[in-house]
Amino acid sequence: MQNKVIVVKSSSLIDGITTSIQSNQAIVISDGRIVRVGHQEAISKEIPSNTEIIDLGDLCIIPGLIDGHTHLSLSGNGSNYVEMFSDSDEMMVLIGAMNLELHLSAGITTIREHGARNKVGFYLKEGLEHGYIAGPRTLVSGRPITCTGGHFHMCNETADGVDEIRKSVRRLVHEGADYIKIMASGGGTEGTIPGRASYSVEELHAAVHEAHHFHRLTAAHCRASESMVRAVEAGIDLMEHAEFLEPDGELRFDPKIAEMMAESGIWISPTLQAWTDYPRIVELRKKRDNDDISSEEIKDLEYQEQQIERRLDVMRRMLDYCLKDRIVPGTDSGVNNLAFGHLDYDLQLLVEVGFTPAEALISATRISAEAIGMGDEIGTIEPGKIADLVAVEGDPTSNVNAFSRVQAVFQAGKRVR
Ligand SMILES: [Zn+2]
Repeated sequence: MQNKVIVVKSSSLIDGITTSIQSNQAIVISDGRIVRVGHQEAISKEIPSNTEIIDLGDLCIIPGLIDGHTHLSLSGNGSNYVEMFSDSDEMMVLIGAMNLELHLSAGITTIREHGARNKVGFYLKEGLEHGYIAGPRTLVSGRPITCTGGHFHMCNETADGVDEIRKSVRRLVHEGADYIKIMASGGGTEGTIPGRASYSVEELHAAVHEAHHFHRLTAAHCRASESMVRAVEAGIDLMEHAEFLEPDGELRFDPKIAEMMAESGIWISPTLQAWTDYPRIVELRKKRDNDDISSEEIKDLEYQEQQIERRLDVMRRMLDYCLKDRIVPGTDSGVNNLAFGHLDYDLQLLVEVGFTPAEALISATRISAEAIGMGDEIGTIEPGKIADLVAVEGDPTSNVNAFSRVQAVFQAGKRVR
């Protein structure tokens, strides 16, 4: 039997290989993969007359978006960690199913799930693979490895010292982890210190060594400057957060660390919307634009904007070290009030630190695909790749808000929105 062929066309397309817009393109898809991309006229001559053609009109087609940092099992509704972790595992699986749908309909076709309790992350992946639930292609870390009492210790993968860490990596790989996540500093979990490292270089290196042995990549949660240095020295593949946070709670950019990061070639996921209450900023700015804002809300907006500016300032200084093409956007959805469905917020913040909207798109597609080890399969619209496509309204090369106006989503050639 021949595979079903479909053609998707529209007036504009960004293939993600370059940042430029091409007009009147058509994509030929067979068995979920892209077989040809070309001008509509040329392609219409090549295909049989009964081929199904999906015409997306004047929408712009872009590659499916990738979110490098999510927590599927958490609701992102403003609850704190204690409240969120009082849910049962069963409830967390249901929350995960809800979150997967929210992300998929926002054009996010691939994610990394950065650590859930017990087997919740693995169950969600299994549910997706069986087709019981819909959602982005999900790479799971299972449970994050953390020290005794460390950030996310509630997930139940505590390990201290190189031997326990090696054992944790082996256990997670055995259970089905696609990559290894390790907490290299404290975080929002009560009793931890975000500005302090939580593992030695030796311990982090044990995780990297063991993970690479099983062909698994590593990602390390690093809010503290001290942990950033150790992650680079240990050979971690991807650094999460990279806030340059000091034990006193201040952000202090350190050029020596940025230099180390640039030289090492480490990937960096800055999770910009997670630093402050960015969804609140978006809400308040909307109110301000509609002239429907109270004086208290104006004060709140100014405060929130000052807070995020501290973070963006550090990010801008880091980018001076030629790190633009190492940046992997990540939402950190699930924690605090970061609801799923908003990678667009991170793209907006990347534009605020100096990316063009099209460069932000490349970060969330081609560069992210490479960083998570899927560069051969996804991230661009070109023959051989999986047909993950998103259609947005407007011109994403000139206006970053186009990424908030997703109108159609294709996952492996199948229209899911
Ligand atoms: Zn996180």
